[in-house]
Order: sequence, then C-alpha cells, then structure tokens
Amino acid sequence: MKVRKYNSIKLKLMVIYISVVLIVMALSGTFMLRQVREMEEERARERLRGFAVRVYNTIVLPNDRARFIDAPEWETMQSEYEIEVILMSELGVGIAPVGFVGARSNDRAISWAMSGQEGFSVGRVGMDLNNIEAEWLSFAMPVDHADGRFIINARMKTDDMNANLFELTRILILTVLVALVIIPIAWYFLADTLTRPIVAMSRHARAVAGGDLTKQIPVHSGDEIGVLANSVNFMTNEISQHLEQQKKQDEMRKEFVANVSHELRTPLTSIRTYTETLIDGALEDPKTAMAFLEIIDEEARRMSTLVTDLLELSRLDNKQASLELDIVDLLGLIRISIRQCQVLAEQTNQVIQLAGTEDACFILANAPRINQVISNILSNSIKYSPKGSTIHVSVESDENRHQVSIRDEGMGVPEEDLSRIFDRFYRVDKARSRALGGTGLGLAIAKEIMEAHGGTIHAASTPGIGTTMVLRFKREEGGVGV
Ligand code: ATP
Ligand code: MG
Repeated sequence: MKVRKYNSIKLKLMVIYISVVLIVMALSGTFMLRQVREMEEERARERLRGFAVRVYNTIVLPNDRARFIDAPEWETMQSEYEIEVILMSELGVGIAPVGFVGARSNDRAISWAMSGQEGFSVGRVGMDLNNIEAEWLSFAMPVDHADGRFIINARMKTDDMNANLFELTRILILTVLVALVIIPIAWYFLADTLTRPIVAMSRHARAVAGGDLTKQIPVHSGDEIGVLANSVNFMTNEISQHLEQQKKQDEMRKEFVANVSHELRTPLTSIRTYTETLIDGALEDPKTAMAFLEIIDEEARRMSTLVTDLLELSRLDNKQASLELDIVDLLGLIRISIRQCQVLAEQTNQVIQLAGTEDACFILANAPRINQVISNILSNSIKYSPKGSTIHVSVESDENRHQVSIRDEGMGVPEEDLSRIFDRFYRVDKARSRALGGTGLGLAIAKEIMEAHGGTIHAASTPGIGTTMVLRFKREEGGVGV
C-alpha cells in the first residue's frame, strides 16, 4: 500500500512541530514582553524620582514659598528633561508652576503622596500642559519645607516606552515568521532521515512476505526506530531459523521413508526370488527346498522385526506410548536383561559380568521398556565383540542418580560415527550389521525410551579396544513392593 502524501507521518509530525514552536514562541514572547515592560517601568520610576528629588533640591528647598512658586526653573527643567513637574499642596491642590490649574486627584501616585508615601502609577490618562490627552507614567512624593508640607509630582508620557515595546513585539513576530519558513525546509530534510528507515522496513516486510528471508534492515540509530528495525531483523532471523529447522525435519522424514522402503524391499526381493525359484522347480528337491524356506522364514522374521520396531518408534514419536511408570529396582531389571541375553552370549562363548553396588537402585520407570533398552545394548555388545570376550556391566550411584555402564571389548565405533549411531537406520558397517540381522533402529529406540524417562544415553568408544554405553537415571527414594 502506498502512503498517501497528506496522510504521512512526516506531515503530521510537522504540524505538531509547528504548533509546538508557535506555542513556545507565544508563551516566551509574552513573558519577555512582560519582563521588559516591568524593567522599563522601573527605569522610568527611577528617572522620575531622580528628577523630583532634583527639583526639590534646586527649586523648593533653597527658597521660601513666595519665591519658589514662580521660580523660572520650573520651565527650564521641564523642557530640558521632557518631564512635567508640578508642586502641590499637601492636599493635592496645584501650586506651581503658576500657570498650572489641572487637578490630578485621580492619579494613584498622588493619592499615595497625600498619605505620606512615595507613589508611582502607570497608564493614567490625562491632559498635558498643552491640553493634549496622553497616557502617563507618574511619580509623586511628599516633601517637607519650612513653609509646610508639599507634594512634588513628576510625570512623563508612556509613548517612548510603548514605542520600545512595540519594536520588541515586531521583532518577536518577525522571528516567528522566519521560523515558520525555516522549519518546513529543515523539516523536509530531517524528516526524511526519520521516515527513510520506516520506508525501508516496509520494503523489507514485503520482501519477507515474498519469501526472501536473507535480507537485514540496516540499523543506523539507537532510537526507537532503530530498536524497531532491530526487532524486525531479529524476527526475520527467527522465522528463517524456524523454516530451516522445518526443512531439515522434512528432509529427515523423506530420508526415513526412503530407508524404510529400502529395508522392506530387500527382504521382499529375497523372498520373491526364492519363492519363484521354488515354483520354477526347486520344490522338487526337498533339501534345496528346505534351505530356501529357511531363508524365506528368516527374511519374513526380519521384516516382522522391522515393522515392530517402526511401530514402536512411531508410538514413541507420537508420545502415545503408554509409559506407565512405577518405582522399580534398576539392578533387578539389569539382572533380568542379562539372563535374557545369556543364551546369545553363550553361543559365542562370551561372558557378561555384573559389578558395582549390591543395593537396590530405585528409579521411576516402565520396566519392560528399560529392559528393552538394556537388552538392546547388551545384544549390540555381543554382536560387535569377538568370541570369548567379556562384557562388563556396572552400576554406580550418587545422591541424584543411578548410572549403568555397559562395556565391551569389541571392534568399537570410529570417532566420526559415534554421534550418529543413535540415528535411525544408521549402521557403521551396513553389510556386517545386516548380516547380523540388524536394522539400525535399536539405539534410536533406546534413545527415545531414555528421553521419555527423562534419562540420558551416551556412547564412548575406542576402535579396536571396545565400546562403553552409559545410561543415567534420576534416583528415586525407596521402592514399595517391587
Ligand atoms: P538393531 O539393533 O536394530 O538390530 P543394529 O544393532 O545395527 O540393529 P543399533 O543397535 O541402532 O543397530 O546400532 C547402530 C550401529 O551402531 C550398529 O549398526 C553398529 O555399527 C554400531 N554399534 C552399536 N553398538 C556397538 C558396539 N557395542 N560396538 C560396536 N559398534 C556398535
Ligand atoms: Mg542393536
């Protein structure tokens, strides 16, 4: 899906950004103007105060009332400083300069002075000496004189200050306008660095959807988008691994089916060949016929064993195998397995010895299954060891587990095959194993059974010296009635 231009993140972010800039500018502008205004007022107050004090010192204080009322300095100072100054009686009635007649009773500064304090007011509207209406900054203070108490009121027009403030406002507005022009331009370039990874990510997602799991999004930043890109990369990796695993499993399954077919076809071919030969006339000769039938019987048995093993594996695979667990004595199970294999061992003059603990070793297990595992290992040792050799079985225990080791003095397993002998159908020497009647499923089944019990099976071997198989079981305390 293509992102509509006016709906893009970029635009939304820009609108937010501009709004934020405007708000910040408005707030800080207002604050600044207020600060400046206060400063200007403070300055005006100081100026007016200084002027009033000067007027007091130069005109009022050195003269008596009759003299200072019409002193010419009122005019000169007035025009020199552009500050209007008047003298009033204690009650706020104009006294000097002589021409002054207006009342300023509504000026708060004067009210303060009348009550005996310095006063200052801003923004009072009143006429100036030329009868022109204006806004004033006004300062008034009571002064003492030999002829009584008077009030000096100095005031100046706010025009100057307002002009300054207006200038400042103008600069602020101009700054905002410049910002409004610069932001979108800067934004255009900046936002691209923001949205580029997002665009890259959606392209990546489309590639993944199309089955390409090899690509990784380049991560340039550690910000949220970088983190997101990392997560997407991680996810792709996981999916890719998962798919690979599945592929491997599929391959294993195919190989398994191929193996099964092959293992079934070999005895079947053999059976067919001998049957056909019998039909074609070999039946006439009872001796040959008997030999052939024995072979057919042997092959049928082999197929039967194979099918049983396969069913067993399939059941273990599906976790359907009803593993009814009881507390059983491992040592007892070992003795039973040894007894079962004894017949086989005697045929080749082999001896199976049991060593180690004499005490019962309790484990939680399905007895027939564990019996199957031990018998399988013992029969391997018998099959793959020379005549007259000894097979050593021992049991050791520690506080957590029981360990069974079955060691033979046989041909051993080459290092590179050791990890594979637990694979289904894996045989080190195919021909030899087949000749001995093996299908290569025994250890695979043993492993499945051990895992279903929460135990482990390991092999160690030195070719020419012998092989040791090690089984480990979790130890169980105290068996009842076994
Ligand atoms: P099956 O047990 O199904 O009758 P098998 O004995 O060939 O057939 P496994 O028991 O799974 O199969 O063993 C796999 C292979 O491991 C054997 O073919 C053999 O090559 C090797 N192997 C197993 N045990 C020993 C051993 N004690 N000494 C030497 N090689 C062994
Ligand atoms: Mg075997």
